[in-house]
Amino acid sequence: MDANKKWLSIPKDIRSQIRDNVFCARCLDVATINSFTIEEDKFGIVLKGKCKKCGHEVARLVEK
Ligand SMILES: [Zn+2]
Repeated sequence: MDANKKWLSIPKDIRSQIRDNVFCARCLDVATINSFTIEEDKFGIVLKGKCKKCGHEVARLVEK
């Protein structure tokens, strides 16, 4: 299964919780991830995108 399918196999409400719960190192706060891509990782999948507030790059590991 590719990373995108793994992501889509997560229930929609959980996915939106994950998207809204990404730590931004510039805001030093929890942020929403914007325009992200999904990549395979040995621990699961990783969302890589930008902080909605400041545009800084953020990433979020989703363990599977
Ligand atoms: Zn930010």
